[in-house]
Amino acid sequence: MQRESPYPMVLIDEAQRLITAHIAPLGVEVIDVLREAAEGRVLAEDIYGVEPLPDVPKAAVDGYALRSADGVAPRRVIAEVTAGATPGLRVESATAVRIMTGAPVPDGADAVIMVEHTEERDSILLVQRTPRAGDNIHTIGQDIAAGQLVLARGTTLGAAEIGLLATVGHARAMVYRRPVVAVLATGDEVYEPDGTVFPGGVRDSNRYALMAAAREAGCLTLSLGIARDDAHVQRAAILEALDRADVLLTSGGVSMGTRDLIKPLLAELGTVHFGRIAFKPGKPTTFATIDRPASAHPSPLLVFGLPGFPVSSLVSFEVFVRPALRRLQGDARPERPQVRVTLRDPIRPSPDRPEYQRAVVSWEEGRLAARSTGRQGSSRLLSMLGANALLIVPAGAEPYPAGAELEALITGPLALPGT
Ligand code: AMP
Ligand code: MG
Repeated sequence: MQRESPYPMVLIDEAQRLITAHIAPLGVEVIDVLREAAEGRVLAEDIYGVEPLPDVPKAAVDGYALRSADGVAPRRVIAEVTAGATPGLRVESATAVRIMTGAPVPDGADAVIMVEHTEERDSILLVQRTPRAGDNIHTIGQDIAAGQLVLARGTTLGAAEIGLLATVGHARAMVYRRPVVAVLATGDEVYEPDGTVFPGGVRDSNRYALMAAAREAGCLTLSLGIARDDAHVQRAAILEALDRADVLLTSGGVSMGTRDLIKPLLAELGTVHFGRIAFKPGKPTTFATIDRPASAHPSPLLVFGLPGFPVSSLVSFEVFVRPALRRLQGDARPERPQVRVTLRDPIRPSPDRPEYQRAVVSWEEGRLAARSTGRQGSSRLLSMLGANALLIVPAGAEPYPAGAELEALITGPLALPGT
């Protein structure tokens, strides 16, 4: 057994820099953003509105189009325009046109009065308020100006963005390709969760949790199963990823044990950029790249060797892998927001490494309040449950009391107060 890791300990931001230096967005593809499930995809082009919206002045309410200069004088109702109609008429002084929401405002009219503020009898309109020029008229380009940039490259599509693409008539749009992320579990003690588990074994939660995390980050996933702690078996699995994936995540086998084979294999097949981080939980997290023939794949395989302990692997994923996966997809904002939060419970730092502790953050009494998810052991997956934040706890000896402020990465929606 080795006593001393050959890998220097890198700082968290150094590790993040090394990863980012090896990442360029993958290729692009054109998809039907309206008819394929495009939510979560990232735009690879800027989208402009060609025509103004609305393209003609439109009524914002149901009512009457008229001239404001006539004040409260009665008007003769000369016609009706509904949405979708093209009025070939003009509103002159002392006349009005019955008009529906969304219908084009006829020439000559400079205001629309709400039906609620009128009376109409025998085609004579009486108004109860003095109309002012511009009332209830949606002017040309009020919502989107002609030629306006509506969605920038790097935007992640959601409901509003897809609505906007439809609004400007952009059904086919260029998006970044989704990374294919292969996930490999390692360990002689690791078993398929729904099969027999021999005494001393553990169910493989990491592979399934990491695949889910990769999909949540917008990727396609490929399971490479569970590899025994055998260099031949693990090498074959890595070579399969080299053939089929953009990114490989491995779980386990990166520590100092005699059966921890991932780091030497990665060093043999490619380049290990770091093999230890001053970071808790997840010190042995490893990052490597493996070159491959450009004809087969334009970019090297990115490999993240994540630790075996379930919390360590998921927290390392969040801090190091997720931003990389978002960058690969061209996301203009690949990082989680980092904010200051107020501790509701006292917490204890790690003496030697910055620690990312799981917490639940909610808005309470005018500030972001963070509650710990309890014992932070790296095998206690329950400490991830309900967490929407990672508290960034600097290394130190003194506990932080309730009321202290710390930085936190926000990883999920705000919780309801008191949860
Ligand atoms: P390792 O990093 O390979 O030394 O693994 C550390 C510990 O993590 C093991 O003793 C297991 O208890 C646990 N572990 C390893 N792989 C998995 C996995 N795929 N799912 C759940 N727990 C795991
Ligand atoms: Mg192991």
